[in-house]
Amino acid sequence: MAQIIDGKAVAEQIRADVAREVALMVRAGKQQPGLATVLVGENPASQVYVKSKQKACAEVGIQSFGHVLPANASQAEVEDLVARLNADPEVNGILVQLPLPVHLDEQQVLKAIQIEKDVDGFHPINIGRLAQKGRDPLFIPCTPAGVMELLALSMPSLEGVNAVVLGRSNIVGMPVALLLVRANATVTICHSRTKNLPDVVRQADVLVAAVGKAEMVRGSWVKPGAIVIDVGINRVEDASLPKGYRLVGDVAYDEVKEVAGAITPVPGGVGPMTIAMLLKNTLRAAQIAQP
Ligand code: NDP
Repeated sequence: MAQIIDGKAVAEQIRADVAREVALMVRAGKQQPGLATVLVGENPASQVYVKSKQKACAEVGIQSFGHVLPANASQAEVEDLVARLNADPEVNGILVQLPLPVHLDEQQVLKAIQIEKDVDGFHPINIGRLAQKGRDPLFIPCTPAGVMELLALSMPSLEGVNAVVLGRSNIVGMPVALLLVRANATVTICHSRTKNLPDVVRQADVLVAAVGKAEMVRGSWVKPGAIVIDVGINRVEDASLPKGYRLVGDVAYDEVKEVAGAITPVPGGVGPMTIAMLLKNTLRAAQIAQP
């Protein structure tokens, strides 16, 4: 039976550490760290995410500045807002909630963020540095950073281990794979065109699943003793629950926990880490701004 990696507890510890550091900064007469959120349009999921990020900021003493633009905002309006936030000394971090409405050029908006304020780590320079030897990004994207923190608990050194990443998205799969390479793992990246997926997964000492397919990874796919980090958050119908659904990961948890050496649950694994890492990045941005 696998060790259960309690992401909720780890995230709480990180939040408490951030709160302590923020209090120390303020006591030392420095400016309170500040995070600006930019929400374009009325995507309900994005509204929920932004709200929970603002709430988490308040809990650790980080100021948040919420900016909402209409769904039909122009590219220039969004970039002008980002430019104002770049120039605002009270704002240490800028988070543009993704996805943006389709008429907007996401890459150009992310590029407009000053890299010292890129607490989401999606500025093309930060991502580019992640992919280059001997260069360090200023900020690492939050979910991938959370994955690495959880992995480090079960496997402090990843040197030479076989790591398999399921998914190659810009926000999870690819940055996780780059981070694993930087940690000297031997990395295989799988995606929708990968052949013989179960056989590839069976080679993994470390498996990170970020595909968005409910319980896709079965127990028979997993090497005994492997460390399994499940990033997936999927809704499956469950008439027995008042809300009519439950959340499951990309990994068939009940099967895989019997085989793996360690596993993250869903919910309560990677999910809570994302906001914790955002708070940590915002604190770092404030520390860089006021050494
Ligand atoms: P995307 O849909 O952007 O990417 C999914 C990736 O999985 C793609 O690379 C795709 O391949 C690959 N894939 C899809 N189907 C298969 C398959 N059958 N076999 C192998 N690979 C497949 O998703 P995200 O990366 O944004 O998110 C992944 C999951 O993580 C989702 O469940 C999401 O909800 C969750 N998530 C959780 C977060 C958190 O914990 N805070 C944050 C972000 C995401 P291809 O490239 O070929 O299309």
